[in-house]
This record gives sequence, C-alpha cells and structure tokens, in this order.
Amino acid sequence: MSQIELTEAQQCLVDAGKVLMIGKHSEEIPESERNMIWRGFAGNFGNKGLACTMLRDDGIVLIITEGDVSREVLRHEFIHAAQCHASPETMKSALDAAIQVGQLLVSAIRAKLTANPECEKGHRDLAMAEQQWKMQADGSATVAAFPVFQFYQDLYPTNETAELASEILGFDYPRGAYAAMTACLAAECGYEIDPMSDLARELVAYTFEHLEHEIIDELMAEAGQSPDTQLRM
Ligand SMILES: [Zn+2]
Repeated sequence: MSQIELTEAQQCLVDAGKVLMIGKHSEEIPESERNMIWRGFAGNFGNKGLACTMLRDDGIVLIITEGDVSREVLRHEFIHAAQCHASPETMKSALDAAIQVGQLLVSAIRAKLTANPECEKGHRDLAMAEQQWKMQADGSATVAAFPVFQFYQDLYPTNETAELASEILGFDYPRGAYAAMTACLAAECGYEIDPMSDLARELVAYTFEHLEHEIIDELMAEAGQSPDTQLRM
C-alpha cells in the first residue's frame, strides 16, 4: 500500500483506534467477509485506487484500500467511518446539508429551463428523477429507493447538468452532483429518507466527497469524541 496522506481529523480517528486502514489481504478483515471484499476489488485493473469501508463487530471501522487512492475517495470512506459513530441528529443535519446543496443545482436547472425551454432534453435527468421520487413517495415504485438511486447514478447526470453543476456547486464531480440532486428531489417529492439509512449515508458521502462543508467537519469531530459504547449503525 502506498503512503496515504490523511487530514488531521482523519488521523484523529485512526489514532483513537476507531478506524483501521488496511490492504485487501489484511488478516484484520473477518474471515467471513474476505470473499465479498475480494470480489469487490476484483474488477480493479491498473493503478486506479479503490477503497471500501466495513464496520467490524468490535466497533472498529475498517477502511480497506488498494492502489493509489485519491484524497476524495478517501474522504468518502472516512465520511462513512464517521457515520458509524455519529448521532442521529448529526446524521439528519448532514442529510439536510446535502438537500441544500442539491437545491442550488435544481433551482439553477429550473431557472435555465424557464429561460430556455428548448434545453429540456439536455436536463431530462431532472424530470426523470422527479418522476422516480414521486413514485417512491406515493408507493407506486416497484424498485426500492436505494437501488433506484444507484441505477440512475450510473446513467446521470446528463452532460448539460454536470456542466451546470460544476459552475453552480463549485466542484466538478457528476456523481456527487447527482447525489445532491437526488437528496433535494426526494425531499421535494415528499419521500422522507431515513437519515440513518444506507441511502442517506451514500447521498451524504457522494455530495461531500469533493466539497468541504462544516457539517462534515462536525461529523468527523463527533466521531472522534464518541465513546465506543455510543456506536450506532
Ligand atoms: Zn459510499
């Protein structure tokens, strides 16, 4: 494993023994999980850095990495690590913050469509996502919310939306932009996402992977201070 530089808050979690950073062949990975972890890394060719996070039964969060992992990928995994130790209140604030980021983008798309209705096709992801979340809200969806998000996050945002997002949100990361947009539209459509759910954890991690925000600093600080008995998952 190459040398990875951690932020102060990340180093704190490691020093407190709450997070263990290891390679994919580490004996620290519970035997029952090893095959699953290796399968997850199996599609990794070349030097692209990959990482994943798992919460061990003893309350220690394992961040498993392979290759040269970027600052952002690592930040994503450390957000997940902190989420394992965060209070429901902080988890809710983090989801609310993602909703607010998404609101900026959604408003910008709508303003653009009002001025230029011919751009609708370019921003078809907005109408598509609205429709999905209305169906989740009224119970007519046949697929659960989390897999729907994952499926569409591979297809969207459109290039036009991604471009607008990098202008409006100040980060050029389409997967994060789509996550923020999803958080906003789900809330708008009346689908209440449980802040402790896997879906909420991913929406927050993707939204703030490339974006500094005080709620993430709070989340990290709270995780560093939490006694082990407060472990929540
Ligand atoms: Zn994640």
